[in-house]
Amino acid sequence: MARNCRSFDCVDSGTVSMSECLVVGGGVVGLSIAYELAGRGRRVRVIDAAQPGREASWAGAGILPPAGSHSDEPLEQLAALSNRLHAQWWEHLRDDTGIDNGFRRSGAIYLARSATEARALQTLASVAHRRHIVVEPLSQESLREIEPAVRPRGGLEAAYYAPTECQIRNPRHLKALLVGCAQRGVEVLPGTPAEDFEIRDGRIEVVVTPAGRLSADTVCITTGAWSGALARKLGLTLEIKPIRGQILLLSQPRPVLSHIINESSRYLVPRPDGRVLVGSTEDDVGFDRSTTAQGAGDLLHFALGLVPELGNSQLERSWAGLRPATVDGMPYLGRVPSLDNAFIAAGHFRGGLQLSTGTAVVMSQLIDGETPEVDLSVFRVDRLSHDSPAPQASKTRPAVSLG
Ligand SMILES: Cc1cc2nc3c(=O)[nH]c(=O)nc-3n(C[C@H](O)[C@H](O)[C@H](O)COP(=O)(O)OP(=O)(O)OC[C@H]3O[C@@H](n4cnc5c(N)ncnc54)[C@H](O)[C@@H]3O)c2cc1C
Repeated sequence: MARNCRSFDCVDSGTVSMSECLVVGGGVVGLSIAYELAGRGRRVRVIDAAQPGREASWAGAGILPPAGSHSDEPLEQLAALSNRLHAQWWEHLRDDTGIDNGFRRSGAIYLARSATEARALQTLASVAHRRHIVVEPLSQESLREIEPAVRPRGGLEAAYYAPTECQIRNPRHLKALLVGCAQRGVEVLPGTPAEDFEIRDGRIEVVVTPAGRLSADTVCITTGAWSGALARKLGLTLEIKPIRGQILLLSQPRPVLSHIINESSRYLVPRPDGRVLVGSTEDDVGFDRSTTAQGAGDLLHFALGLVPELGNSQLERSWAGLRPATVDGMPYLGRVPSLDNAFIAAGHFRGGLQLSTGTAVVMSQLIDGETPEVDLSVFRVDRLSHDSPAPQASKTRPAVSLG
């Protein structure tokens, strides 16, 4: 078995600090890869420009939509693998770190209030059906029975029930990953941005940071929405840009909802403590993480239009995060073709929390010279460069909504 990681770790001539695997970017994708690689016995270091786990991965809603395990589409296979792994990682992380990330199968309801939304839902339901995902039509009466607080303003055109949709509390998941990484010997360096690379003989020899020059047998770039600029320094064009998502956090003394409620790209995510996340906007405003009155107003209008009782909630806080969006809607996962030891895992857009576990496993397999259990060719990092043939990927995923 070929390995890209060699089994030593040293500080070289006082200037270059060496590790086996250097993960650049400590969001959920980078931390998950570090956790998995360390579990395979690798000596791993993670650097982050700021505090790890405080960007998109913290801001997300934590929805894990169902995925079909029998699909022949790689993105769907990655989602199905990720869902299986989330159930396992939740238990392992809880047992090892004492932190429960709140993973639970709350189920979800998908609603349509217009004929257009109803047609879109029907299409999603048939895609889900083909993928053997359980999605059942829901009558008004059944909806009232299982979610009495949902009283859609303007009436209801269609409703479906997806019993296997899960959720995690992503800030807790990130805490658990950080502790889990530490327990596995991962060194995490906050406030350490990668600024440049020194390349020699087809390899990244040094990652330049303000804190020093870092070297590693393998470098994996997982900098989310910021990945385009770093990739350019490696001579690679990644079509990634930030798409801001705003979220409101409402709280009620007791839970008013028990299922995730989805309508088009908006959702309500109830937590067992009475909190409800209201998400989310899609704002094409560059690297601007601020929240806006318009965004908050739209989200409140959506929430109260579905669940009038939420009008009594306390508006606890709002925030925004920058989703890493790619032009074809698929993440970049793979090795940089011109470099032996450089890998990229970025561009998970609305699905990075869900896809993080599967991404960690397939990237670790790739880095360790194994054949990844999901075919990664459609995710290759040079797929959108002009001299590369266009990938034959389906864009029908997701069958159901994402964050
Ligand atoms: C409002 C909202 C709701 C969402 N809801 C869901 C959901 O319900 N389900 C789901 O699956 N997904 C959801 N997502 C998407 C998900 O959050 C993202 O796809 C995922 O977090 C991306 O993870 P990441 O690790 O690639 O990026 P990030 O979490 O953004 O991490 C990137 C890290 O790289 C660091 N970095 C940047 N530049 C450098 C550098 N030069 N050197 C070193 N470090 C650097 C940053 O500081 C950051 O910590 C949501 C996103 C948002 C914004």
